[in-house]
Amino acid sequence: MQFVLATRNAKKAEELQRILAEISLDIQIVTIDQFPDAPEVEETQATFVGNALLKARALCEFTGLPAIADDSGLCVAALNADPGVLSARWSGATENVDQANLELVLKQVADATTANRDANFTCAAVVVFPDGTELVALGIMTGTLLTKPAGENGFGYDPIFVPTGFTKSTAQLLPAEKDGISHRGKALLDLAKQIASYISKS
Ligand code: IMP
Repeated sequence: MQFVLATRNAKKAEELQRILAEISLDIQIVTIDQFPDAPEVEETQATFVGNALLKARALCEFTGLPAIADDSGLCVAALNADPGVLSARWSGATENVDQANLELVLKQVADATTANRDANFTCAAVVVFPDGTELVALGIMTGTLLTKPAGENGFGYDPIFVPTGFTKSTAQLLPAEKDGISHRGKALLDLAKQIASYISKS
């Protein structure tokens, strides 16, 4: 069965495909790049699940294929769980976006106590099938924020996030190490189980 992946973020697509390849699920993945005319979907919802469903529904309708989408972000205790669904566009920058976003968060938590540097990454992973079936999974990785960036791997806020139980940032972990504990890894593992169950019944 062929599935299409609803993200134009190359780093995220790479991570999603890597995680899906690790999960023993017998599906083929094509990317949105193979559908150049696929509609751009504005993330207008207030929740990760809502935005992921918007993206997957639109791509499923356009391609006629089951569509997998995720929506994810960083939630910081000291910022009342912001940037949340606004994580990708928090600084409003149009160049060096990841760097600008993480610098703004660091500035905003500069005066926070250690406890208030608590944060988590949350990921909603969903699939929408042409028959209207919608499967939803959530994954969370808790941690704390550093005071300055460390590490080169990953993307987004990885250089300032240290997962609970670790002393390195997620940008200092190997990709496979991050996948094993990440919000995206957890959500996709759950989603894969639900997809396997759906396929076995259809
Ligand atoms: P989305 O494409 O709307 O899901 O944007 C998610 C944004 O949240 C990304 O652009 C990053 O800024 C941030 N984010 C989500 N997951 C991660 C991660 O695993 N590491 C670092 N940043 C992340």
